[in-house]
Amino acid sequence: LPRKEFAIISVFPEIFASFLATSLIKRAILGDKIAIKTFNLRDYSTLPHRAVDDTPYGGGAGMVLRPEPWGNAITAVKKESPNGRVVFLSPSGFPLTQRRLGEMAIMEEPLILLCGRYEGIDQRVIDLFVDEEISIGDYVTMGGEVPAMVLLEGVIRLIPGVLRNAESLTEESFITPMLEAPKYTKPPVYNGKAVPPVLLSGNHEEIAQFRKVESDRLTFIRRPDLYSDG
Ligand code: SAM
Repeated sequence: LPRKEFAIISVFPEIFASFLATSLIKRAILGDKIAIKTFNLRDYSTLPHRAVDDTPYGGGAGMVLRPEPWGNAITAVKKESPNGRVVFLSPSGFPLTQRRLGEMAIMEEPLILLCGRYEGIDQRVIDLFVDEEISIGDYVTMGGEVPAMVLLEGVIRLIPGVLRNAESLTEESFITPMLEAPKYTKPPVYNGKAVPPVLLSGNHEEIAQFRKVESDRLTFIRRPDLYSDG
């Protein structure tokens, strides 16, 4: 399998240092399953003090990221990855779903992730360079870096060979598409609370039945919408 490539463009690429150097992501990089490069938007500014933002036309609070550094950065990244797919993390994007993560994991094209900051980025960047706008949910974070990490973790764990136990991929929430039943490990009694006895029974049928019932109960109470999305 060819390794999956990612490029991240951000005003604060240092946010990704420990993310890329830890646990499964680190192992996937060392195992050549994935390659991730970060780019500092300021390196592509031609203005004094490497400025990348300015006040919004039409007025309003805050600063907007100017289009030129984005254009320069995306063009530079695309020189190395001409078939790269440009994804802008944005609260106005299409909602991220497990299905979309699965499609991205098997897509051959490198993913070029754009992380906004401040009040966002000039619309012309989106019109000229962006293939897809993705939101991680109906709330606003300070920047696109954490949303990009959400997308990266979601995609990378689906790339074949990244997880040791691939079975966990088929059983978990949003594939079935129900919420998962509660999980327990040792000790059998903790602070006076015992593990449900059926899980210690060794009876696989009863255990499966218990998990199905719990999963149904949770889904019915918390996410009835999942039944209609199926
Ligand atoms: N004024 C912007 C708006 O209402 O759309 C919010 C800008 S937000 C403070 C700065 C950046 O964080 C955005 O450009 C985007 O890259 C990222 N961001 C914030 N919330 C996000 C979300 N739910 N999904 C994806 N990216 C998000």
